[in-house]
Amino acid sequence: MKRDIRDLLNPALRSIAVYKVDGGQEAEIKLNQNESPFDLPLWLKETILDEFRNESWNRYPDILPFRAMDAYADFLGIARDSVIMSNGSNEMLYTIFLACLGPGKKILIPEPSFSLYEKIALLLQAEVVSVPMHPGLDFDTEAIIAKAREQEVDFIVLSTPNNPTSKSLPYDDVCRIIGESDAIVLVDEAYIEFSREKSVLGLIEEHPNLVVLRTMSKALALAGMRIGFAIANPVLLGEIAKPKIPFSSGRLAEITLLHILKHSYLVTDSVAYILAERDRVYAEIDGIAGIEVFASDTNFLIIRVHDAARTFRDLSASGILVRNVSGYPLMENCLRFNVGMRDENDRLLEKLRTMHP
Ligand code: PMP
Repeated sequence: MKRDIRDLLNPALRSIAVYKVDGGQEAEIKLNQNESPFDLPLWLKETILDEFRNESWNRYPDILPFRAMDAYADFLGIARDSVIMSNGSNEMLYTIFLACLGPGKKILIPEPSFSLYEKIALLLQAEVVSVPMHPGLDFDTEAIIAKAREQEVDFIVLSTPNNPTSKSLPYDDVCRIIGESDAIVLVDEAYIEFSREKSVLGLIEEHPNLVVLRTMSKALALAGMRIGFAIANPVLLGEIAKPKIPFSSGRLAEITLLHILKHSYLVTDSVAYILAERDRVYAEIDGIAGIEVFASDTNFLIIRVHDAARTFRDLSASGILVRNVSGYPLMENCLRFNVGMRDENDRLLEKLRTMHP
């Protein structure tokens, strides 16, 4: 008799679900994936496509997209050998975790945080040490430092600003965690362009245990292009590059990044718009009785309602797609939505007001 197929697989698969986006990815007003509401202007898409047309599609791209990596390093003002690009920052997370974790290794993850961290750690059979946020969803820095030391963790991952809570660690606290721990510290700065806090990029030379993760999917509005970066001291980066999938970034992503960096005012302008709208929407919701809104350091807001499943359904029925994040620890009856265009935000506000008269 043949063995049960599941016995042949990675045992971690039993505790892992297939990744899916609740509510789907189509809606009249789509606010569920923390994307930018601003697509690239058509004239810029045309320029990018003209260049892409003349590339050799039959040839492999560079093993790593060196032109884009050099341009991004120059844009950040850091050494070129401190930067590596991936097919979305999700791919880089897999690469970094593969380089750092395995059976017998311990990873510290603040909870709740980006769900992919735990998933990859479990796949690699690492031990997860969770540190809960404070009840108001702020990070518990003292507990992170104490747990890291007590459990002798090998790896710490900090999403700051954090998805799904929308809160950041203060800059000085990130410095303390990096400085007081001898673990590798991965600081995922997916939402840093929206933050009041300073990036920790400037610390990579001084701290050989620090890796910074960046994505082009949020403020840079390129979620469809799949571009992410890791930035670290060259010695650590050389090790992280070893498990990397070769040729994972296509030619189109590389060309697109080169062009967007030349027109970075587009990013600055859209971030300014999103931040102004975030503050307006926050203030409006704060005035609605029956909804609690959390102060945000990102391009999205977290609200707590009486019955999140019902509010999610009612909003969906009106064509407004948000994310129900109630399943995360400490986030009972919470919904998450990114800031959209002004008229989209108005439609959401209007609907929330009619639901909470
Ligand atoms: N890190 C965080 C904290 C995120 O929220 C996301 C996307 N939701 C990612 C990484 C991955 O982004 P991408 O793969 O699009 O670069």
